[in-house]
Amino acid sequence: MNIAHWLQDAALRWPERPALFEGPRQIADYRMFATQVRVRALELRHVHGIEPGERVALLMKNSCDYLQLLYAIWWCGAVAVPINHKLHALEAAWIAGNAGARLIFTDEGQLFADLALPNGCRELATPARCMPGLPASDELQAPHPRLDSDLAWLFYTSGTTGRSKGVMLSHGNLIAMSLCYPLDVDPVAAEDAVVYAAPMSHGAGLYNFIHVRCGARHVVPLSRGFQATELFTLARSLGQVSLFAAPTMVKRMVEQAREQGYAGEGIKTIVYGGGPMYLADLVDALDTFGPRLVQIYGQGECPMTISALSREAIADRGNPGWPAIAASVGRAQACVEVRVVDGAGRETAAGEAGEIVVRGPVVMQGYWDNPQATAAALVDGWLHTGDIGFLDGQGYLSLTDRSKDVIISGGSNIYPREVEEVLIQHPEVFEACVVGEADPEWGESVVAFVVPRTAGSLDARTLNEWFLARMASFKKPKKYLFCAELPKNSYGKILKTQLRQWLLDPDGSLGSA
Ligand code: AMP
Repeated sequence: MNIAHWLQDAALRWPERPALFEGPRQIADYRMFATQVRVRALELRHVHGIEPGERVALLMKNSCDYLQLLYAIWWCGAVAVPINHKLHALEAAWIAGNAGARLIFTDEGQLFADLALPNGCRELATPARCMPGLPASDELQAPHPRLDSDLAWLFYTSGTTGRSKGVMLSHGNLIAMSLCYPLDVDPVAAEDAVVYAAPMSHGAGLYNFIHVRCGARHVVPLSRGFQATELFTLARSLGQVSLFAAPTMVKRMVEQAREQGYAGEGIKTIVYGGGPMYLADLVDALDTFGPRLVQIYGQGECPMTISALSREAIADRGNPGWPAIAASVGRAQACVEVRVVDGAGRETAAGEAGEIVVRGPVVMQGYWDNPQATAAALVDGWLHTGDIGFLDGQGYLSLTDRSKDVIISGGSNIYPREVEEVLIQHPEVFEACVVGEADPEWGESVVAFVVPRTAGSLDARTLNEWFLARMASFKKPKKYLFCAELPKNSYGKILKTQLRQWLLDPDGSLGSA
């Protein structure tokens, strides 16, 4: 089934329901949303010659047009390639070339003016909003028929650890993923407003489907991105707001909310995930926003759907098991089986760490044009996530780290996450990130990058004392490097590769990506 049927169906059932919003202002109901999508699908087909199965890339900031273009691409049976808009033009051109995209939509239509795009791919400015004069033909009255296994979304991994790969997500994958949301994350009502504060090329965009299926409102902030204050104002005026946010965004929301005396009015749910949320930060978020938080753990290869930690479990601070549960990523979502395996592929005992592997209808079809990487990731039907974690006896999954981030020092495995958890609890530490550095004596040693709340308020001795009072000395950072900020990608993930690179070349910049 073509997932664009969900839009067609919503427009038939609830033509007058408010659908698209720019900031607080409604710009389309569901009838108009679907009509404009069909017009754009016809344009893609007849003006640009896009055939079913061909790829169309989007390199744009969040907008209502973004959502309409996505659906237009699916409506005519083509494949969407949403690209992180903060990438350099050369990186984006590489992705467009790798995907064999025929078209790439950009905000201004001028990004590649001086750069030849590969394979005859053409750049187009995002079409101005059309008040559709519908063509007389009956063509594409309904979305072009697609099978569940047909490709819908080529999802390029964020590349925090190397060259990005095109994850092939089918219509069936997206449908399975979306059906998990009301079961495992949060029930959706027509009155809800999903706000796209994080990039639509990633997790936030993937949450559009279930909100279309339920006839809810879709809101793009006027900033077209994340600004905490704008978000609070939107939430107050629209009400019933849900959003997906990286933990670093939640942290920023908490800081701003505290300054402004805002306590989450108008926010229904903040779904966080995509990176570790430290316990100290979660406590702050709960104190500030109350029971509005739900966590998900997923990866492009199994989008948004490996596990979820429910609102109730997160808010249940009276439970003696709460600290362990709150530090976990919750339980398997409805559409996946989750296992933890050792190096020989055997399931580990409860509490024992190993690689997290998953299978189910949401797991990707493979990597685009990369059979080697596909064979390494999909083994006997199981997706090898590259994440290390353990399951407890109740089915709660905890992540320790990415397998490639584990530090092996003097033969012992040190998980950066647990070192970071201890450092972040220090009242003067704003952010911390731990990586390994080659060490002639120990193989690797622990290096902590620390952002103090106030410049100059911390030194290595203070942090060492703090650390040794809480954790084994062999895990103690050998070096602390104090900095004003940590490099992050546009999804808010800390770029460990950049930190490691900086250790090799300390004269280079540590700036944000
Ligand atoms: P991406 O494919 O870019 O979305 O990155 C996925 C990776 O982010 C996962 O494999 C995990 O390493 C990490 N990740 C995702 N969700 C969480 C979470 N809730 N807690 C900790 N790490 C996470």
